[in-house]
Amino acid sequence: MSGTSPRLRDTLDRLPAYVAGKQPTGRADLTPYKLSSNENPYPPLPGVIEEITAAASTTNRYPDPAATALVAALAERHDVPIEHIALGTGSVGLLQQVVQITAGPGDEVLFAWRSFEAYPIMTTISGAAPVQVPLRDDESHDLDAMADAITERTRLIFVCTPNNPTGTVVTQADLDRFLDRVPDDVLVVVDEAYVEFVRDGAAVRGLDTYRDRPNVAVLRTFSKAYGLAGLRVGFAIAHPPVAKGLRQTAVPFGVSTVAQAAAIASLRAESALLERVDALVAERDRVEARMAAQGWALPASQANFVWLRLGDRHDEFVSALEAVSLAVRPYGREGVRITIGETEANERFLSVAARFAPTS
Ligand SMILES: *Cc1c(COP(=O)(O)O)cnc(C)c1O
Repeated sequence: MSGTSPRLRDTLDRLPAYVAGKQPTGRADLTPYKLSSNENPYPPLPGVIEEITAAASTTNRYPDPAATALVAALAERHDVPIEHIALGTGSVGLLQQVVQITAGPGDEVLFAWRSFEAYPIMTTISGAAPVQVPLRDDESHDLDAMADAITERTRLIFVCTPNNPTGTVVTQADLDRFLDRVPDDVLVVVDEAYVEFVRDGAAVRGLDTYRDRPNVAVLRTFSKAYGLAGLRVGFAIAHPPVAKGLRQTAVPFGVSTVAQAAAIASLRAESALLERVDALVAERDRVEARMAAQGWALPASQANFVWLRLGDRHDEFVSALEAVSLAVRPYGREGVRITIGETEANERFLSVAARFAPTS
């Protein structure tokens, strides 16, 4: 036996790692809170858990590969034809598929930076080149600069609104102006993972935009507002050639029977779920108001998290939060994303934030 290992694609050497949110550690006398993955702090609703339990008894069988009932429920909920829907193993699964169907070696995939960390990973896996356009000083997308960065090699553009990790939204007016500059044969994916938390009336309405423009697709997920992160189900709404391509590249049987049942039950329980989202939005607004009073100048978040830049005190701040059993998500030393969670978790976060507030 020789010591050589199998030859793998050299793109793997260029792949940034996906950093998953950490579990909280810290003091045994404090309830730990995980504010590092933008999860919903509420458990699934009782009716949803019953459907999950019932579906679990059929686990010896493969799931419905077309997810017929879930696709029908989504088509009705969003008033779109069933052929316009594609499911994925979370919307991260669809992100990978959407790169696969549009871009390979020699092509470019354009997106803002910082934005969702899956974009450069999925792009690099496919062999395409990520083109990252810096956010503006207010942490929002610089759509003029993004339009300027389009070349004849651009095949796909991601617009993340609200943007993970900064929480800022793109306005519909800005998106429309941007789309007028995008060639018709370039696909634009509006990633709306946090859309249920948006209360800004000027923000993008992805579905209206998709209805008007064949080169626009919308990504949604059951992981955040709907609280099903552990079951991995997301969906795209796109015009037929794109939606079909996404179905062609899906992992067969990727969305399990349990996930399909839970998503259908969550749609049925939607009003109760969205009441919880209202409570989280109220908590977000309260946290932002308290931080403003403490002296922070934050980008206005329309998602279920806030984003802070600490400069020299970055490490000290993250350690102070970890020391009180709060797990948060640092991005190198650039900034920290803190998910809005239970009131007690938010209060504990605010008391640490008060100690680090910039003094003017
Ligand atoms: C969380 C997130 C997703 C998707 O998550 P899934 O759990 O894979 O559905 C997609 N886009 C953004 C910007 C996210 O933050």
